[in-house]
Amino acid sequence: MRLTAIKLAGFKSFVEPTTLRLTSNLAGIVGPNGCGKSNVIDAVRWVTGESSAKQLRGEALEDVIFNGSRSRKPVGRASVELLFDNSDGKLGGQYAGFAEIAIRRELSRDGQSQYRINGARCRRRDVVDLFLGTGLGGRSNYAVIEQGSVNRLIEARPEDMRQVLEEAAGISRYKERRRETENRIRHTRENLDRLNDLISEVT
Ligand code: ATP
Repeated sequence: MRLTAIKLAGFKSFVEPTTLRLTSNLAGIVGPNGCGKSNVIDAVRWVTGESSAKQLRGEALEDVIFNGSRSRKPVGRASVELLFDNSDGKLGGQYAGFAEIAIRRELSRDGQSQYRINGARCRRRDVVDLFLGTGLGGRSNYAVIEQGSVNRLIEARPEDMRQVLEEAAGISRYKERRRETENRIRHTRENLDRLNDLISEVT
């Protein structure tokens, strides 16, 4: 699995449709202060399901939409698409057979949000699930190494370090499934309790 292109439109400072092609395993983004280097990283986080405005260096989720400049009016919608070469089948599940996978997220100012995998609408959860265990998944998301990340890792509490190791070992996907299943079992037990109460009332 390799990220081959990042397509942005209306996202933060990238108001014009822009495609960044990553042609090798190592890519560098260089430019003067404030030119939008970190916005590219924010775009990757955003499209892979980041739901915290703070993590995206904003106050509200719509802060990712281009909000105007001296020469341009604000726009109404932001979109980001990531293209992955998946010829190794690392992005798995129902998508394992696809040699290329496109993940897209769009947000409009009226709050309408959409995710798509290879053009088909899906839930945020489907995108998050797809990346769990790949390094781009979960809260540890160690594939994105920012300023201070190495220090944070060295100084991490054992439980936070464990999360990173679990993501690297591909365990986080199964832990997430277990958490969901446990929640479903808990709900079912609660429903059963309610049902038993009703039965004892009517008999
Ligand atoms: P540095 O080298 O200082 O870390 P950088 O190249 O990483 O800078 P970014 O932080 O990615 O720069 O980009 C900052 C620029 O993005 C600022 O000019 C800011 O005004 C612009 N920007 C951020 N959000 C939006 C938005 N929603 N609409 C328009 N411009 C935005």
